[in-house]
Amino acid sequence: MNTQVAIIGAGPSGLLLGQLLHNAGIKTVILERQTPEYVLGRIRAGILENGTVELLREAGVSRRMDAEGLIHHGVEFLFANQRIPVPLSELTGGKR
Ligand SMILES: Cc1cc2nc3c(=O)[nH]c(=O)nc-3n(C[C@H](O)[C@H](O)[C@H](O)COP(=O)(O)OP(=O)(O)OC[C@H]3O[C@@H](n4cnc5c(N)ncnc54)[C@H](O)[C@@H]3O)c2cc1C
Repeated sequence: MNTQVAIIGAGPSGLLLGQLLHNAGIKTVILERQTPEYVLGRIRAGILENGTVELLREAGVSRRMDAEGLIHHGVEFLFANQRIPVPLSELTGGKR
């Protein structure tokens, strides 16, 4: 195999790096010590931050996230029997 880059680990970092390099025309090989079933079956993220979402879109791998993802515009803190809303989108100029 002829490749310029070897990436160790098929976690989110390794896979996204592989995709970004592929998009830039750079060949890679990703080496993973676990089985594909293990990697696909483990829980890695339930919530993605705005920057991650934008990077996934930029990399061209956001189809499933865009189709199935639930968008959060804010969160609520529960404290001393009170609900304290934090309107994230409002406070950040529309980020989600
Ligand atoms: C239960 C849980 C919930 C989470 N929820 C969120 C969330 O909601 N939002 C969020 O942003 N983050 C979340 N995280 C954190 C997120 O999963 C990590 O930040 C992310 O997985 C880190 O990615 P990584 O590729 O750097 O490392 P990893 O995901 O750890 O991947 C590293 C990979 O390298 C492989 N590897 C290691 N050493 C070798 C070797 N010597 N040779 C070959 N392969 C090797 C490992 O098997 C693994 O597959 C969560 C994590 C867990 C555990």
